[in-house]
Amino acid sequence: MNSMVITIDGPAGAGKTTISRKLADLLDYRYVDTGALYRGVAWMAERQHVDLEDEKALGAFLQNLRLNLERNGSGSLKLLANGEDITAEIRTPAMSMAASSVAKRPQVRAFLLNVQRQLGAEKDVVFEGRDMGTVVFPQADVKFFLTADVLVRARRRHAELPDHAGQNLKDVLADMQRRDAQDAGRDLAPLAAAPDAVHIDASELTVDEVLAMMMRCIRDKSGIQGR
Ligand code: C5P
Repeated sequence: MNSMVITIDGPAGAGKTTISRKLADLLDYRYVDTGALYRGVAWMAERQHVDLEDEKALGAFLQNLRLNLERNGSGSLKLLANGEDITAEIRTPAMSMAASSVAKRPQVRAFLLNVQRQLGAEKDVVFEGRDMGTVVFPQADVKFFLTADVLVRARRRHAELPDHAGQNLKDVLADMQRRDAQDAGRDLAPLAAAPDAVHIDASELTVDEVLAMMMRCIRDKSGIQGR
């Protein structure tokens, strides 16, 4: 009854993680930050010195990799890789770029496609990422494409990095533009809005305003009332 998959795609720093978490709370759904999974692959591959060009080595590495997302007490997600908590390690500017690089690899995308679809099998999930509404869940019940002006996104990202990760706003902006261009320009599952996605530009909206817009769409499509 009223069981749904909701997807939120969009560029870096648009507020997808905050919005997904809060939307999931309102609906009493789970939420899955798929970017964290790509970051987890990148972190583990780097630590195990996997040569990403070597298909055999990459395949063996992926076969032995178990990624799990768990919610911790504060409501945010904890990423476990083969049982090890690597939540803090994956949130650096270097890991953002490394994740975007591994995300171009067909083997990595196929591996995570499987992981994501398994997570979505029970429904009642909000998924956030780049290709959730286009490739992973083309049949999702409600799809959003969340964006915001690039300077607004860079300011937010700069503010949320612990001690700004030694970067100034210009560095963050340049990294973000490079990463978005790489994500939107790749051949496989590029960052894109699904044709049936509802577009929301959050440049001048508060989190609560974005959530209110989303809840209206969800109610219209499903009759769900939420909390
Ligand atoms: O969302 P986040 O910034 O954590 O994502 C890190 C990187 O993972 C993105 O820049 C993108 O290259 C990749 N990604 C992806 N597909 C997704 C989610 C993330 O390619 N569904």
